[in-house]
Amino acid sequence: MINLDQLRISFGDTEVVKGVSFNVDNGESFGIVGESGSGKSTILRALAGLNQHWSGTMDIGGEPQLPKRPKRFYRRVQMVFQDPYGSLHPRQTIDRILAEPLEVHGFLNIEKRIADALNEVALPQSVRFRFPHQLSGGQRQRVAIARALISEPQILLLDEPTSALDVSVQAEILNLLTDIREQKKLTYVLVTHNLAVVTHLCTRIGVMIGGQMVELVSANDLRAGNVTHPHTAELRKLS
Ligand code: ADP
Ligand code: MG
Repeated sequence: MINLDQLRISFGDTEVVKGVSFNVDNGESFGIVGESGSGKSTILRALAGLNQHWSGTMDIGGEPQLPKRPKRFYRRVQMVFQDPYGSLHPRQTIDRILAEPLEVHGFLNIEKRIADALNEVALPQSVRFRFPHQLSGGQRQRVAIARALISEPQILLLDEPTSALDVSVQAEILNLLTDIREQKKLTYVLVTHNLAVVTHLCTRIGVMIGGQMVELVSANDLRAGNVTHPHTAELRKLS
């Protein structure tokens, strides 16, 4: 579903992604872990079409990607961010927030699709007429997930989706993401600094340091400590 070869991204003179390559199968859940500043979010934003200044080869769904994407691309690939407060428009009701992507992509039956999307993320219909600040952090992240799913994407890019939440709410959101992936057969790419989160949700994991992916490891091997790169062992100790 995703084929990245020698992805390179610079800001000014500084290269922050230094030739990263990995593949993600259809329906697979791929994780990227690494310390803060190692380039994880930068890779995800390039996959999402939010950063056009990259080089290398990027195939998504078998199609070679150019830096500028057609509108239909954004229906197939959706992103969920760490802080749902920042990513939901503060002066739009939840109803508006969910209607917008449906209108952009020309969907019919908007009312029913919004009702179904709220059911999928286990939110009551009554949240439709509230604003983001009138919800809890966990409820806001559920809205962000509903908005990402509402245009029926094939790929969900998740950037630290639980890092801003209380521990008990983190577990709820992780379980929700697990259920959704199984039901909808979605492909996930999850970025996190949290090894417990990545081994819960992902089967294969790439370890980043300083803009390079230094190790590819299965969730089982990461849990068991069967890792080859000293940085991966260090990450395990820290978490
Ligand atoms: P991570 O998500 O792993 O914490 P990021 O991908 O956010 O790391 O950042 C990688 C590096 O790129 C960091 O050094 C960061 O400061 C730099 N960086 C990220 N975005 C920008 C930007 N828009 N302009 C300049 N530098 C950036
Ligand atoms: Mg980040």
